[in-house]
Amino acid sequence: MKVANAVTASSFAASLLLRGNLSDAYAPTIHIRTRTKKSFHYCKPCKAMLPSSSAVPPLSRRRLRRSISPFSLGNSSNTDDYGNGVDVESAAKLRQLTLYNSLTRTKAPFVPLSSPLVTMYTCGPTVYDSAHVGNFRAFLTYDVLKRVLTYLGYNVDHICNLTDVDDKIIKRCDREGVSLMELTRKFEGKFFDDLEALNIVKARAYPRATDHIQEMAQFIVDLEKNGLAYQSEEGSWYFAVSKKEGYGTRLVNLDPEQLKKGASAETGGGGAQRGVMDADEYDAEKEGARDFCLWKAYKPEFDRDDATWDPIVELKGGETKKIGRGRPGWHLECSAMARKYLGDTIDLHAGGVDLKFPHHENEIAQSEGANCAPFCHCWVHNGFVNIGDEKMSKSKGNFLTLRTACPTSDDVRAYRYLVVSSQYRNPLSFTDTALGAAKKALKRLDKLKIMIVDVLSKENGANIAYVVDSVDSNIATTVERELANFEVAIADDLSMPRASASLFSIVKLAENEFKRVTKAADDPDFSVLPPLDLVGLASVKQALEKMDTIFGIFYDVPEEKGGSDGGVSVNGNQLLVPDDVMQLVAQRSAAKDAKDWDLADSLRSKIAALGFEVKDVKGGDPIISRNDELLISKD
Ligand SMILES: [Zn+2]
Repeated sequence: MKVANAVTASSFAASLLLRGNLSDAYAPTIHIRTRTKKSFHYCKPCKAMLPSSSAVPPLSRRRLRRSISPFSLGNSSNTDDYGNGVDVESAAKLRQLTLYNSLTRTKAPFVPLSSPLVTMYTCGPTVYDSAHVGNFRAFLTYDVLKRVLTYLGYNVDHICNLTDVDDKIIKRCDREGVSLMELTRKFEGKFFDDLEALNIVKARAYPRATDHIQEMAQFIVDLEKNGLAYQSEEGSWYFAVSKKEGYGTRLVNLDPEQLKKGASAETGGGGAQRGVMDADEYDAEKEGARDFCLWKAYKPEFDRDDATWDPIVELKGGETKKIGRGRPGWHLECSAMARKYLGDTIDLHAGGVDLKFPHHENEIAQSEGANCAPFCHCWVHNGFVNIGDEKMSKSKGNFLTLRTACPTSDDVRAYRYLVVSSQYRNPLSFTDTALGAAKKALKRLDKLKIMIVDVLSKENGANIAYVVDSVDSNIATTVERELANFEVAIADDLSMPRASASLFSIVKLAENEFKRVTKAADDPDFSVLPPLDLVGLASVKQALEKMDTIFGIFYDVPEEKGGSDGGVSVNGNQLLVPDDVMQLVAQRSAAKDAKDWDLADSLRSKIAALGFEVKDVKGGDPIISRNDELLISKD
């Protein structure tokens, strides 16, 4: 037994583990930005030459050469291809990331304005209900994107808004007899609980729309000054689409004829996070068919005092301007918040593909119209989540909240793994089989990690069970290669299925190593246990931890804190009934009232699929009970 070598191997393993320390990746950083751009264009509203458009120019050979030699050292400063001040040392450490940019419709190198800082804005939830697993695909995509950028050496400054005033929120407050704040704070809390349950790295801030009324009012004033906003006789404010050059062509290719027709179903989009069509009772007031609402004037028959404001904007020269009593339109908050927290021009904007139009197209029109500067250089959109062949959406009644779809901690982690290991732009099928496969994969990973930790800790202790012959390790060499493959994959438009393949290649290596020794131990001809490749196993552990800075799957899911969405009492016991089930029950009652028996039956099946049963009571509310058999059979 070569104890000396065993000690060497042990300290080598320890150094590997130390270098795999995850916490440094999210250390706070002070950002210094310098922006001077080389190319300009003429801006009509401003009547001036302004920084050029958001198309990302190709990288020069000089920059490409620099990007393929990561981790080199240097102290000099320089300017990049856009004239931005770049710290050469920081830039040299960055590995090039390519992303599919919805703006250019191509996969291209991602070039932030002030590398290594990346400013990132993402559209957040409307907090009137629990978010569903389709929504969480977007939040998990933001998470992977941010983790990959951090891994590659960037400092990500991320802002995600919370929409806490809109038509649906107002209707629900009225229905439930609660204040706007009571309702929205409750679902904000649930949203943050779910983010934590999914191990999502938090944004720098989650600003609320209702805390930024003044910023939105200022935005309207800026748009009006540039000839892009007008007020209707009734007092609502609109964005004049016809006055904005290029509207409908940035993220989509709208037919100009269809644009004139206005809010028809040209995109077929459904809006996973909220309705995408602008058609509503405010349409009659607008001048152009596709003009969208910036500010909705107070309507006494619909509006509430706790959801209306009367902002006054101070103008230059001491004058003031009243916007009028009302509340903001949905699109405006994102432009106002992006400007306030990240500046006129941002590097990255992400959201579900259903937000491309009209929401993101409108954000671009507003921001560039008010700021007279490019809004965002790179737009990232994730695909839908499908239940069977259908897109998950609240309007189809086939949506699942996180806790309904994933009742156990293992399910929640499996859902995270299922989403983060998928190609974010493709549709994702959420089925019991897919979730089951993800759970199985996680079990395998957990088991292996425990075995490695166990064996390495024993090796470090007094009772050395295995002999280490050499620090040379075939496993460590292969792990290094797979880690390189993994890094190439994540930097290639977040190719997570390939990254997963690398992860499981190293898992297999370690499993085979354990099998080799176990098999030998069963052989009666062996008197001494053959040595395990501890250096190799330590390198596997380090690689797992490094890869987990992206996958984020090794964690303890916290207990659900939010409490009941809609608890009902059955036989004196409090039963927790999720919101989505309660809504289906309400829809079924409405269907029965309308004598639509087919719809009522299909809704009953949907309720059953979520693990609940509904029993009608003559002259009273239906009784809801949990069908434990169904819930168990979901595993
Ligand atoms: Zn938005």
